[in-house]
Amino acid sequence: MGRAVITKTTTCPTCRAVPTKDGNKAYPFCCERCQLIDLGRWLDERYRIPGEPVDPSEIDPEGTND
Ligand SMILES: [Zn+2]
Repeated sequence: MGRAVITKTTTCPTCRAVPTKDGNKAYPFCCERCQLIDLGRWLDERYRIPGEPVDPSEIDPEGTND
């Protein structure tokens, strides 16, 4: 049985480039620019969603939770 070598290459979520880990403050992004692009995309999606999904069991419409 050979040793399973899992080579999982981390790629920049924005441009799929292989990021440098050493001294890279934006890791796992390849650069700060890609990090900002991804952050902007994430915020954009959040603003597009009217509200977060709520568990109906947590809603008490009559406020009689006493
Ligand atoms: Zn990138």
